[in-house]
Amino acid sequence: MDFNYNENQKMIADTIRSFGEKHIKPKFMEWDETQEFPVECLKQLGELGMLGVLVPTEYGGSGLSYTEYVTVVTEVGRICGSVGLSVAAHNSLCTGHILQFGNDEQKKKWLPKLATGQWIGAWGLTEANTGSDAMRMKCVATQDGDDWVINGAKNWITHGKSSDVMVVLARTGELLDSRGITAFVVERGTPGFSAGKKKIN
Ligand SMILES: Cc1cc2nc3c(=O)[nH]c(=O)nc-3n(C[C@H](O)[C@H](O)[C@H](O)COP(=O)(O)OP(=O)(O)OC[C@H]3O[C@@H](n4cnc5c(N)ncnc54)[C@H](O)[C@@H]3O)c2cc1C
Repeated sequence: MDFNYNENQKMIADTIRSFGEKHIKPKFMEWDETQEFPVECLKQLGELGMLGVLVPTEYGGSGLSYTEYVTVVTEVGRICGSVGLSVAAHNSLCTGHILQFGNDEQKKKWLPKLATGQWIGAWGLTEANTGSDAMRMKCVATQDGDDWVINGAKNWITHGKSSDVMVVLARTGELLDSRGITAFVVERGTPGFSAGKKKIN
């Protein structure tokens, strides 16, 4: 197998390296020390097409393959691991979930904003006592007429405070039923949806 970068990958790597020199390297220590999340930097990466790498162009994405996506995460991660994780969480977790499982209406509604970095996405599965053991999640969703009411809390969510939209996993079936979990897309501003205190290690 040839592990050298193809033309697309070279172009992506060059773009990210020069972006990183200018917009990430001079600032990442400050972001770290002040515990500031670099929303602007993420949005700029979105403008460069790095936040919707796998999203088809019809939904505003870059329409590339996993080969290019791995290059994006690797190259951003080489400059700053935290921003690399953000890019991966945005692309794979939130955007990826909607891309993979959303219907066309949902894709049209959220993917263009996510793929261009207009909106930052998050994905909430983990709870205080249910990490790997997600089937024991306590967050429950119940139907109330045409609405769904979600009750519970999620922890250690990347972009939990800074996202505009989040895919939230909640129990809609019996405890320990792996099929009794449903994913909901929740926009910031939804009544009752709020971010708690940031955990500082
Ligand atoms: C940087 C970072 C970002 C994150 N971002 C997100 C996010 O965006 N969204 C989100 O939902 N979560 C996020 N998480 C949470 C992450 O998904 C959880 O930490 C993960 O699921 C593991 O859960 P846990 O920490 O509770 O560990 P545990 O589930 O308690 O696991 C602890 C250890 O026990 C082992 N273990 C667990 N179950 C078994 C078993 N049955 N048999 C044998 N061994 C077992 C595990 O392999 C592990 O080594 C993030 C975590 C980190 C560190």
